[in-house]
Amino acid sequence: MEIYLDCNATTPVLPQARQAALAAMADDFGNPSSVHSTGLRARSLIDDVRARARRVLGVPGGRLLFTSGATEGIQTAVLSALVGLRDRRARGESVASLLLYGATDHKAVPESLRHWKALLELGMDVQAIPVGHDGRHDLAWLRERAPRAGLVCTMAANNETGVVSDLDGLAGVLAGSPALWLVDGVQALGKLALRLAERRIDYAPFSGHKLYAPKGIGLLYVREGAPFTPLMAGGGQEGAQRSGTENMTGVAALGAVLAALEDGGTFGDAATLAGFRDRLAQALLEAFPTLVFNAPPALCLPTTLNFSVPGLPSKLLLDLFDAADVRVSGGSACSASKAQPSYVLQAMGLPAWQTASAVRLSFGPAADEAFITAACERIRACGRSLRESCLQPSAPGSLPPEGLTRFIVDGACCYLLADAASRRCIVVDPLRELTERLAALLRCQGYTLAAVLDTHRHGDHASPAAELRAALPDLGDDTGPLDALGWPQDVRELRLGDRVLTRLPIPGHTADSTAYLLHDANGLRLAFVGDTVMPGALGRSDFDESEPLVFGASLLKLAQVVGPTTLLLPSHDDGDRFASTLATERRAQPLLARLLGGGLDAPAFAAAKAEREGGVEPGDCATPAGGARVAPHVDDDCKVLTPAQLLALVERQPELLLVDVREAYEQRLGHAPDLVAPRARHQAIPLSQLLLALPDWLALPTTTPVVFYCRSGNRSAQAANALRRLGHEQAWSLAGGLALWRPQGGDAPAPLRDPDVPAFA
Ligand code: PLP
Repeated sequence: MEIYLDCNATTPVLPQARQAALAAMADDFGNPSSVHSTGLRARSLIDDVRARARRVLGVPGGRLLFTSGATEGIQTAVLSALVGLRDRRARGESVASLLLYGATDHKAVPESLRHWKALLELGMDVQAIPVGHDGRHDLAWLRERAPRAGLVCTMAANNETGVVSDLDGLAGVLAGSPALWLVDGVQALGKLALRLAERRIDYAPFSGHKLYAPKGIGLLYVREGAPFTPLMAGGGQEGAQRSGTENMTGVAALGAVLAALEDGGTFGDAATLAGFRDRLAQALLEAFPTLVFNAPPALCLPTTLNFSVPGLPSKLLLDLFDAADVRVSGGSACSASKAQPSYVLQAMGLPAWQTASAVRLSFGPAADEAFITAACERIRACGRSLRESCLQPSAPGSLPPEGLTRFIVDGACCYLLADAASRRCIVVDPLRELTERLAALLRCQGYTLAAVLDTHRHGDHASPAAELRAALPDLGDDTGPLDALGWPQDVRELRLGDRVLTRLPIPGHTADSTAYLLHDANGLRLAFVGDTVMPGALGRSDFDESEPLVFGASLLKLAQVVGPTTLLLPSHDDGDRFASTLATERRAQPLLARLLGGGLDAPAFAAAKAEREGGVEPGDCATPAGGARVAPHVDDDCKVLTPAQLLALVERQPELLLVDVREAYEQRLGHAPDLVAPRARHQAIPLSQLLLALPDWLALPTTTPVVFYCRSGNRSAQAANALRRLGHEQAWSLAGGLALWRPQGGDAPAPLRDPDVPAFA
């Protein structure tokens, strides 16, 4: 069962609202402007719902319009206020110069202010009212500017944090000001009494879909006497205040929600909801003991919790919750590789780690006891899964990392090579951002740190190797003195179970650049090559530490030792290509191809490379790969399969391999997906552990399809692209991931079940 905890984004539709909407389509489908009986019935419905809305909002006077939602309500209010100010100015009255909005307001507010100000050519200044650490408006700042403000926009309650504004304080500050006042009431409806008339609020937009009505219906209240200009002109509906045939299904559904609010039986009261929130908060603290709340719960809506967990980015938590079928949302929108911090939390002055790792959990006032109990249990299960993966330091884990794990921070790569049997590990190219997490992971698993190695002295950051060793004092190795890159002096090879690491100096990018070669029972398995060869680029050689004249010789030596097909693991991978080979890079990089083909001597290679690097500032990290020029990659478009196509492909090619690339903590929580097909083979290889599996997939017959899947299709697309770039053409990603996997419905055929195929772990 899905536990939906994202009600500040949107809510499901209340059953009685669904019924009302269906009735409005089936029976009362008339146009309220028609004068025949069918039309009159529709008119009566709309009048009843408006009257109900007036009672619920406590606004017997003023305008109350049906809109398509809050964004439209905000446009109408802003347009009305600005036209009013322009008219006052045209009449020669003195007009204030400021348009103010809360720094944590929904984007619809500042964007509307800027949009309409520009269209109306009003030379007014748009400014954000700062908020304090608690998310509430800085009233002293506002008091100073209120006399010069033409319009002040604030929200009743914030959608990300749930922080409730001090509306009485704001009303007091604005008491003597000429400013019009807009209060965005979206998140307050059904949860807080706004006392719109009493507080002399001029405009208040609301949205149906935030309170169990469907999308596409909203309300706008306008105080009697406040300026008003219709946003839409036409047939004169809504008393010519908002033309366009009314959305009668939306109105009917909203009417059912308002009736539920009036009846008092459907929605919990404030005390009940606060009790639910406290239980969820407790479950969260048990699941993630180091969690911090990003806004003081006492100042927030009783239905919203916003929190961050140190060391756990919001993307990781969202994947974890989603795997447990718990829907929450990130306080921040995450792009493919970098998290966009939440502007709301930034405005509150929270530290960067908190703004970049925030998660919002919000339920609706129709939540009941059983739902909250199930939600708490599911949250605790998420915590257990993380602890078992040792991502939370509080308990010993049962799943030791084995093999090779890749960590990536803003394109920089760090590798953990671990041997579960001996509990020894080696870290290659450590990153400061990961020190704490790695130390916790290794401590939790009782691992001994056999070595922390750098492939070179990094130009863009100092190595945190010493910090990592110091963070694990009881696990430190006793191999004696280390060289500058962390290799134990007088040691030829580092052994880790049946794997062996040797080194190969490859000066060029820097004088000390070194490759670490990993061998196993089958011979050379892969090489950590630092910045010397990256996917699509060669490391720069115009740094002070570089030795450009020997770069070419180093590449030739590398080619001789590793050959064309050994996997090369870089220390930068901005394009999510994971690994490369010299054969792949020869195809992508003409300069490298000429060198390896014998067409360039060392000075000619150095000159050609210097020419290519000219004009790129050293350390210019706006360009990826530590400032190197990256060759454009022509076939980055991922090949995707819809569920129906996947099932058809399995029928045609039963040797097909299905790979779940979700992380272990998700796989453990996730329901075994219905991706079961006769004879199709399955593997669970988390994206972070992809590297050691790549050579095996590359060794498959070229016609064998390898189909990756994950939660949403992003990570599986990365895996498929990486494999395809390395030469396996039949690499695919399941479009939309498990989120869109509906083999029972839609156009996808029913799944083909095979009782002999074991369930996923
Ligand atoms: N204001 C707030 C506080 C909101 O949370 C939202 C929705 O996210 C909006 C305005 C926009 O509402 P609608 O989706 O109805 O346009």
